Amino acid sequence: MPAVVVVGAGIVGSSVAYHLARRGVSVTLLEQGPAPATGVTAGSFAWIRSAGGHWPGGAQDLHEYALADYQRLEAELPHVTVRRTGSLTWSGTPAQDSRPGPGQFRIGRSDIAALEPNLRHPPDQAIHTPADAGVDPTALAHALVAAAGAHGATVLHDTAVIALQVTNGRLQGVLTSTGFHAAATVVLAAGTNVPKLCEQLSADLAIAASPATLARVTAPSGLVKTIVANPDFEVREVRDGELVLVVPCVEGTAAALEQAAQDTLQHLQTTFRESDQCRLLGYRVGRRPMPSHGPLVGYVTHDQSVYVAVMHSAITLAPTVGRLIADELVTGRPAPELRRCRPRAH
Ligand SMILES: Cc1cc2nc3c(=O)[nH]c(=O)nc-3n(C[C@H](O)[C@H](O)[C@H](O)COP(=O)(O)OP(=O)(O)OC[C@H]3O[C@@H](n4cnc5c(N)ncnc54)[C@H](O)[C@@H]3O)c2cc1C
Repeated sequence: MPAVVVVGAGIVGSSVAYHLARRGVSVTLLEQGPAPATGVTAGSFAWIRSAGGHWPGGAQDLHEYALADYQRLEAELPHVTVRRTGSLTWSGTPAQDSRPGPGQFRIGRSDIAALEPNLRHPPDQAIHTPADAGVDPTALAHALVAAAGAHGATVLHDTAVIALQVTNGRLQGVLTSTGFHAAATVVLAAGTNVPKLCEQLSADLAIAASPATLARVTAPSGLVKTIVANPDFEVREVRDGELVLVVPCVEGTAAALEQAAQDTLQHLQTTFRESDQCRLLGYRVGRRPMPSHGPLVGYVTHDQSVYVAVMHSAITLAPTVGRLIADELVTGRPAPELRRCRPRAH
């Protein structure tokens, strides 16, 4: 098929570029930053949810494939590691704990202590989701981009797309900070920047930029064994000796954010034994692309030249979405799994 330009090397664009390249498509991946995953992907908690959670619109039809697509990626890309730890979720009051869904179990104090032996005071009950997992999102994006390159994709960093080049109603390619790139199809995977890149098409995409804060903390290896979500924080081990925590504060001065990150670290230390040496490595506020009615995946032009791929929970969904987009672009047949994700074409 003719050349495809993918804009953005976050988790979504990396996955799309990889899956297209391995199907033999001529792909150019353009990223404005100096490396893959310089947007919100780098600051993601990266919990791959197998059950529970909120899946608006078409996300409901996609997330059931997430674990199988991750398993496939691990087989295809030897450097990708999925940490299959399961998750434990509890609220302050057992009455507020949601009912376990399929693949989830309500467990009591002794089972919780067996899964998280360093908890000082295990709660009376929690929801255990054994199939839940996590990844290092930056490492995954790098692995996908490297594999795309190995399958023949051209990858250009420090290359910001300024505008689509459209002549007499036909897409010619993209204008970038470093020059023009011809394309028959452009896939916009630029996260919160997608609405701006679509302005000239009069495509009105309702995509909020929702802030969330992630802290990174050094910790003894194995201090936290599962993914723990409680009313004060969410925590998981992202790599040996390093934890990530979701901080419940997104706005304010740098001093206020620093204080919130330190407070979250303190909650961790009062929750887990052996955590006295944990130290804050840093924190960052990421702006999550959040389409108001669930994932937006599909053409925004009637001539099928401009395609968008924007969603929340993209760490969970990107391997599946990348596979389906490649299938759709290569075969020309719409993927039924994406039917509830379509933007309105102009
Ligand atoms: C604190 C936090 C916790 C989260 N937890 C989870 C979780 O547990 N599970 C989950 O599934 N998701 C989670 N998310 C959401 C998830 O991180 C995002 O859905 C995902 O990273 C979005 O990926 P993306 O590729 O669309 O966007 P991005 O990572 O932002 O990628 C877009 C890329 O496009 C590039 N770009 C933008 N404009 C241009 C341009 N004009 N030209 C060239 N390049 C451009 C950017 O530099 C960027 O690299 C969390 C997010 C945060 C912040």
